[in-house]
Amino acid sequence: METFAWDKNFLTGIESVDSQHHQLVDLFNELNESLFSTDTNREEIIEKAFESVVDYTHYHFTDEEALMEGAGVDPRHIDIHKALHDQFVEQVKALWTQREIIANNPEVFVGFLTSWLGMHILGVDQSLARQIRRVREGMDPAHAWELEGSAQDNSTQALLKMINQLYKVLTVQNTKLAEANTQLEDRVRLRTEELAQANADLIQANRQLEAFSRTDGLLQIANRAYFDEQLELACAQSSRRGETIGLLMIDVDYFKRYNDTYGHQAGDDCLRAVANAIRQTLSRKTDLLARYGGEELAVILPDTDQRGVALMAERVVQAVAALDLPHEKSDAASHVTVSVGGVSAIAAESGATEDLIAKADAALYDAKNGGRNRFVMAH
Ligand code: GH3
Ligand code: MG
Ligand code: MG
Repeated sequence: METFAWDKNFLTGIESVDSQHHQLVDLFNELNESLFSTDTNREEIIEKAFESVVDYTHYHFTDEEALMEGAGVDPRHIDIHKALHDQFVEQVKALWTQREIIANNPEVFVGFLTSWLGMHILGVDQSLARQIRRVREGMDPAHAWELEGSAQDNSTQALLKMINQLYKVLTVQNTKLAEANTQLEDRVRLRTEELAQANADLIQANRQLEAFSRTDGLLQIANRAYFDEQLELACAQSSRRGETIGLLMIDVDYFKRYNDTYGHQAGDDCLRAVANAIRQTLSRKTDLLARYGGEELAVILPDTDQRGVALMAERVVQAVAALDLPHEKSDAASHVTVSVGGVSAIAAESGATEDLIAKADAALYDAKNGGRNRFVMAH
């Protein structure tokens, strides 16, 4: 698709200049075609076509500037003409930095190139050609320059000046648009980061809330609700895999008397110490210590057989005794003690949790009746 129709109006009469202009137009058209390319290495093709335009433009401007200087054209013209060349290079660069916008509107870029060249030829290039001709015919360069100002059609000159001004404005606007676009992208990126952070905070808060909702406030171990849930899961797993599951029910001996003797606050401290001591006897990650209610604690011991449960029960009794917390009103010892009921079984498909708890409770009852400060295993 040709975007620039060449005709004789664009001839200056200087052969080298005309053939270079023609070559430039060909390169513009090639660039235009490349912008519509559907080739897989489209970007490469465009990049190459653009490079050719830039390189050839540079060659042409340099050649034309050498020509005007060699021909002895008035320096005032040379200054203006060079400034226009520089401006073109600058505007092309600015447009090209906005590749993405241009890629979607190929005709904008090539349209700019061709109409700029057309305007440039009709204006300064033809003026240059006239001056060179006159100087070669023997006219003083300054006179030839001044003739351009007066003899020319002033309305055409004014029009060309205005179009040139229009190009400048368009280039500036395009650059500002590209900047605004970049800023918008930055803001979106920032906002996305903020949202991601807020999301992470929310997830963290949720985790805390969840941990909070399953923890006993006083003892900082699992609460009853979480215990029920976990026992259900552990029983399901035991029944499915045919593995044994162990459960300990632990109760502080003569705790009512402890409170009565040392006060409720001391009772709380005592319970915390007991819970801590028991926690330290657990070695497996899957073991779970929970507050079952009041001064009663429970331990879930997944995949633990009769011997294992008995061993854990014994450790619990000893660990609490080893705290050696004075309890002068206890009939079991002179310090705080616990009684433990233990059970190990393969969970039945249904009713396993109630069954396990009932058996461990019965064993605990036996431990109490047997003198406290001891464990009893359910059979
Ligand atoms: P036993 O040896 O038969 O278990 O006697 P006990 O006194 O420990 O049994 P009982 O169930 O009669 O009393 C339990 C006491 O534990 C009563 C209750 O006030 C106290 N208790 C339960 N929860 C807490 C608590 O969170 N803090 C304190 N300080 N005391 C508690
Ligand atoms: Mg008790
Ligand atoms: Mg009790």
